[in-house]
Amino acid sequence: MALTLICPNLVCGQTIVAPESSRGKVVRCAHCQKAFMVPINAKSVTSEQPEAPKPGKKPRK
Ligand SMILES: [Zn+2]
Repeated sequence: MALTLICPNLVCGQTIVAPESSRGKVVRCAHCQKAFMVPINAKSVTSEQPEAPKPGKKPRK
């Protein structure tokens, strides 16, 4: 899971993808280098990684 943010820098406005763990922390925009805080309630998006089947569940009689 990752967070999708919009850079608060009006002249930038780029979409930034930050890890879920960056909530409430300061991140830096990769485009304009502006540092800003990630809102606690930032929207999360599913990553592009496909869901892997969970190992460990063995069929049992
Ligand atoms: Zn920016």
